[in-house]
Amino acid sequence: MEEAVHKLLEAAVKEIATSGSNLQELDNLRIRYLGRKGELTQLFKELGRVPEGDRPAAGKLLNELKVELENRLSAAVEGAKQRLLEGREQFDVTIPGRRPLRGRLHPVTQISFEVSKIFNSLGFEIVEGPEVELDYYNFEALNIPKDHPARDMQDTFYISDDVVLRTHTSPLQVRVMEKHRPPLRIIAPGRTYRCDSDATHTPMFHQVEGLMVGEDISFGNLKGILTIFVHQMFGPDVALRFRPSFFPFTEPSAEVDIECVMCRGQGCRVCSQTGWLEILGSGMVDPEVFKMVGYDPDKVTGFAFGMGIERIAMLKFGIDDLRLFFENDLRFLRQF
Ligand SMILES: [Zn+2]
Repeated sequence: MEEAVHKLLEAAVKEIATSGSNLQELDNLRIRYLGRKGELTQLFKELGRVPEGDRPAAGKLLNELKVELENRLSAAVEGAKQRLLEGREQFDVTIPGRRPLRGRLHPVTQISFEVSKIFNSLGFEIVEGPEVELDYYNFEALNIPKDHPARDMQDTFYISDDVVLRTHTSPLQVRVMEKHRPPLRIIAPGRTYRCDSDATHTPMFHQVEGLMVGEDISFGNLKGILTIFVHQMFGPDVALRFRPSFFPFTEPSAEVDIECVMCRGQGCRVCSQTGWLEILGSGMVDPEVFKMVGYDPDKVTGFAFGMGIERIAMLKFGIDDLRLFFENDLRFLRQF
């Protein structure tokens, strides 16, 4: 009996050691040795065959073995649990946490806000209008009838014969003048659409339209307001010039160039060596447009202007491909 006890203990100790702290294996060992049909239980059953005189000593020995096995197994289980816990908690609670990513305004939105802010400070009110627009507001009321050659300048998305995606923000001029009497000063920032796509054109882009109407509004007012705008947007010493142009809804019309912001007028690739960059179109509101909205062209005058927000953003941030604005690449967008 004594020999059997030693053998069993020796085998059990070895197996506990090789269990590799695996909790499942340790539990299997417990069942194998201490379970109801376990090896130790078998030894207890053999007590009956031990001579009567030796029985108390053998029983004592078996009980000691049982306690020994129980202790070793529970110690091994505790150790295994502890090691599991330590493995899980290998991190330094003093390391600063990761900051949640903060969003920011898209560069086009930033410039749109900046343009709005400048004109707001000059007394211009911000208005908005529909992007799906009637042909009437997008063209006809702006002195561009169906057969007008100026329609060729604009690659229009037609929804139906009478409905278009607005090709410019100019319809807002008409919508506002229909509802309000002069004097008025408004700017209308928003999305516009043209069927065009390359490095300097995207099918969707942003414009800001401006309109100032009242008695005795002159081309001098137009020049003054736009000069203030350019100086606030690009810096007080940036030169600008007004170049005669044509738009169906203004007469006379002028395009505004600013001194190239890249080369300061010296001539470079961006300005095609001219030293100047075109940034907006403008002019005195055509009397025909006033007649369409019921204003008396003999009593009121006014000027209008329009510019591309992306164009301003490209010049301000030095971006050479318009499409970058709409690719939603965070590496690009995070720079602003
Ligand atoms: Zn240049």
